[in-house]
Amino acid sequence: MTRSSDPVVIVGAGPAGLSAAYHLPHDDYIVLEAGAEPGGLCRSHEFGGAVFDVGGHAFFTRHPEVRELIGRLCPVELFEQPRSAWVYSHGTYVRYPFQSHLHGLPTDVVRECLVGLLTVVRDKGLPPTSLADWIERTFGDGIRRHFLEPYNTKLWAHPLREITPAWTGQRIVTPDIDAIVAGALEPRHNDDYVNARVTYPADGGFSTLYQGFVKHVGERLRCGVHIDRIDLDTRTAHSSDGEDFPFSRLVSTMPLDLLVERVNGLPAGSADAARRLRHNSLHLVNLAVDAEGVTKRQRVYVADPEVPFHKLVLNSNSSPALRARPRFGIQAEVSFSPLKHVEIDGLAERVVAAVAGMGLVDPGAVRETEVCTVPYAYPVHTSDTTADREYLLGTLLEAGIVCAGRFGEWLYINSDDAVLRGKKAAEEVCA
Ligand SMILES: Cc1cc2nc3c(=O)[nH]c(=O)nc-3n(C[C@H](O)[C@H](O)[C@H](O)COP(=O)(O)OP(=O)(O)OC[C@H]3O[C@@H](n4cnc5c(N)ncnc54)[C@H](O)[C@@H]3O)c2cc1C
Repeated sequence: MTRSSDPVVIVGAGPAGLSAAYHLPHDDYIVLEAGAEPGGLCRSHEFGGAVFDVGGHAFFTRHPEVRELIGRLCPVELFEQPRSAWVYSHGTYVRYPFQSHLHGLPTDVVRECLVGLLTVVRDKGLPPTSLADWIERTFGDGIRRHFLEPYNTKLWAHPLREITPAWTGQRIVTPDIDAIVAGALEPRHNDDYVNARVTYPADGGFSTLYQGFVKHVGERLRCGVHIDRIDLDTRTAHSSDGEDFPFSRLVSTMPLDLLVERVNGLPAGSADAARRLRHNSLHLVNLAVDAEGVTKRQRVYVADPEVPFHKLVLNSNSSPALRARPRFGIQAEVSFSPLKHVEIDGLAERVVAAVAGMGLVDPGAVRETEVCTVPYAYPVHTSDTTADREYLLGTLLEAGIVCAGRFGEWLYINSDDAVLRGKKAAEEVCA
């Protein structure tokens, strides 16, 4: 039963939910957000005098439409700069991506990486079956062993044999063999990849980028409303503190597996499909340190299994305004999953020791530390994911629920694509 007199209910005020609201051609909607503030994974907060995002965020996009929209709505100027990304490996720093910048690593490591290229079998025979297989075939044994396998094992917190390589083309820089060899023979800077230039709000954290959407939605946004049940018969969303929200159509940006648990009356196969969806989680260890003399690098990637994090985000280098603060924000991303436990006790101390060991900061300069946990960080794409998400999204659409966004659709996308997915959801709601 669709009552056209009821509003459109949008669950979640991340980029996808906010964009869905923005693109609806009418005002008859409400956005319900469980958190205390909007932004989703694009929130920011201040701690110890520095600004931190939910993992390292910078804006870049292949979609001119999104660039124009964000540029128009963002309440402050955008600051653009080259991305200063590095890899810490074998006790030294080389530029990111590792595979393009082997020069400077110990000679035996470079030799093993180059010899490994002799076994590379790109685009020949059957497609690779897993991320592990893709790495081996695309880069050979040396680059696999010295960086890509240990790094991705840390990042995904899942066995690489269980992850499909469908998404890698967009995400793992794949230089041709000639470029890998050239990068091994001489110090060169290979910045031929999609996010080699990055944008960040000139003032505030990454969340400022989406403030224009929040302003547009205005009082139709309700924060602190956690939807824990959706009744298809009465077409009502129920909040955990007992409020009812009747809807004509519902846009969900909450994680797809949680949504399926909360909607009654879905076909029997839905629960199994939802249970098969995989994701990882993050502990973010935030360090507020004395700003003087901290490196100008923006990101450092680390494959070494002994180092607790896979990525360091030097967020205060995202804009001159953040850099000018007396405290500098360093954030370590530490992945975990049911398959990879990370002990939270002593984690901040282990991170400080590792950062000091990398020569980035003196432990005495670390003024405050905190650990924030992100339960849903990256969707993990397994051999079941494509079929399961298509089945679930189709089933929910038939029931009048349009899903959008990173975990709403279980897609490894950034916020620019989440904006487009929100726009598409608004169009579907109106169709
Ligand atoms: C470590 C990391 C680094 C990233 N780096 C970048 C980057 O550099 N650039 C970039 O553009 N993007 C980056 N992203 C991706 C970006 O953050 C996401 O793509 C984007 O936030 C997805 O938007 P969304 O609206 O789909 O989901 P989310 O941002 O997750 O928003 C979903 C919202 O739904 C709410 N919600 C969930 N359940 C309920 C419920 N039951 N009731 C009510 N509300 C609910 C949540 O509280 C949340 O606010 C990164 C992400 C991570 C984790």
